[in-house]
Amino acid sequence: MLSSSHLEILKAQGLYRSRRMIDDKTVVNFCSNDYLGLAKNETVIAAFKNAADIYGVGSGSAHLICGHSHAHHALEEELAEFTGRERTLLFSTGYMANVGTINALIGRGDSVFEDKLNHASLLDGGLSSGANFKRYPHADLERLEKLLTLSNGQKLIVTDGIFSMDGDVAPLWELADLAKQNAALLMVDDAHGLGVLGKTGGGLVEELNLTQDDVPILMGTLGKAFGTFGAFIAGSETLIETLIQSARTYIYTTALPPAIAEATRASLKIIIHETWRREKLQALITQFKVGAAQLALPLMPSNSPIQPLLIGDSFRATQMSQQLLEAGFLVSAIRPPTVPKGKARLRITFSALHEADDVARLLETLHRLKI
Ligand SMILES: *Cc1c(COP(=O)(O)O)cnc(C)c1O
Repeated sequence: MLSSSHLEILKAQGLYRSRRMIDDKTVVNFCSNDYLGLAKNETVIAAFKNAADIYGVGSGSAHLICGHSHAHHALEEELAEFTGRERTLLFSTGYMANVGTINALIGRGDSVFEDKLNHASLLDGGLSSGANFKRYPHADLERLEKLLTLSNGQKLIVTDGIFSMDGDVAPLWELADLAKQNAALLMVDDAHGLGVLGKTGGGLVEELNLTQDDVPILMGTLGKAFGTFGAFIAGSETLIETLIQSARTYIYTTALPPAIAEATRASLKIIIHETWRREKLQALITQFKVGAAQLALPLMPSNSPIQPLLIGDSFRATQMSQQLLEAGFLVSAIRPPTVPKGKARLRITFSALHEADDVARLLETLHRLKI
């Protein structure tokens, strides 16, 4: 809608969105998805610069024209080994990976089942596919089962692994069972688990021991714990070849810069070997949860680096985010329509580069501001 009165209405409702320019030097950042602190890692930056000297900045074209480099290919092979899948395919963003994959796999006459709290890119993929679009209440397996038994055509169940605005984990074992019983495909978006969970950082599928047979379509992003940019889909040879033939967001777009692929290869090595990053991150999360519970802060049921505090009112959430900024902490307010009405929140995220003292000071400030 192009009208200034629409913008005025959003302002009156406390739902107006604006961009802040971020200067990390003066505030402690508690809203980034750079969970392992790799976005500014020296080794990753050096790999990026080196590769830029060799390959240049841009990839020059789409993968299927002449944009597919050795750097991309090597990264795809390494990500397949990392996730325990036959193959992977790089996409330019997670949004594009989700929309393109869902659209390549289902269409008119099929059915797609999505958790109500799924990421917007998964919902947009389901809606644009033309398949019968069914949303089930958050993690409601009974409801999902009912919907599955009532549907025809190819069935695709789609879920976030860790829910991006709530931080809780989908019941993946149960979803995998339901999928098998109903001859449905299961697609899991592990944007927030990858690098963070599992012994080597392989994410939810490693942590829960879910094979390619259990989760045949796995999506991961590179702009979060990997600290770089882009995304990938992991699964069978047949899945990947199908996407190469028909995922329009893969075919009709410029390939990621090869230097990004090289930087990601460096970051993958760090993810696998520097286990202290995951351990430290978990310690900070525990410190926050224990402290917040003692202060009776409105925690949500999450064990992940995403720790939202439920505020409710959109104006109040925005005001608190502003007060936190004045106190030196960058914490974003998340409001509808990103989250349901009346469920505005402060979304606090942790990084392995935070220190125990940062968390202690954040807790003190939250207490002082009477959140
Ligand atoms: C961030 C995110 C995406 C989108 O990934 P981009 O690479 O930023 O486009 C998709 N799904 C989930 C759950 C995410 O959190």
